[in-house]
Amino acid sequence: MEYFSREIGRLIGELSALPGIGNKSAQRLAFHILNLPKEDVKRLSDALVEARENVCYCRECQTLTDSELCPICSDEKRDHRTIMVVEDSRDMAAYEKTGEYRGVYHVLHGAISPMQGIGPDDIRLTELIQRLQHDVDEVIIATNSSLEGETTAMYISKLIKPTGIKTTRIASGVPVGGDLEYIDEVTLTRALLGRIEL
Ligand code: ZN
Repeated sequence: MEYFSREIGRLIGELSALPGIGNKSAQRLAFHILNLPKEDVKRLSDALVEARENVCYCRECQTLTDSELCPICSDEKRDHRTIMVVEDSRDMAAYEKTGEYRGVYHVLHGAISPMQGIGPDDIRLTELIQRLQHDVDEVIIATNSSLEGETTAMYISKLIKPTGIKTTRIASGVPVGGDLEYIDEVTLTRALLGRIEL
């Protein structure tokens, strides 16, 4: 039996299709939205539509941005000869937060996962290999320490080997005590400094 009218059901349906949003959360969000002033809802929907319209992939590092080159790739003060390979734009943001890394990035948008049918052609590896034709001193592989992340790291290091470019893998982070807010940054910085050559 249908508890909600068609329009409300449709809103709940759309929200529950988002990652990490179960039916209960979708209902809570739907009723929150329905109780907002109309102009607030308009602002939210405009933000969704305009972000989707205007955001594209950076020509160099493939991160999501709203210009041809993202702010990091267009920054001449960054070391463009050191490329850190990450799985997604959020990983990039996490490393940026440490303030310890001065190189540039390459965002794969995923990791190789034979279990989920995600192969090398499904992530942005071709773009990475193209970048290696320019002057590059080091590629730091900072994919996650999950099975998929390790598989991807191995695959990339084999791919780069023939070019002779130095390839390193970040150390797996060991959480240290202290303020929760800083744990991630400290761990990430340690992982970066403790990277090993492949
Ligand atoms: Zn970029």
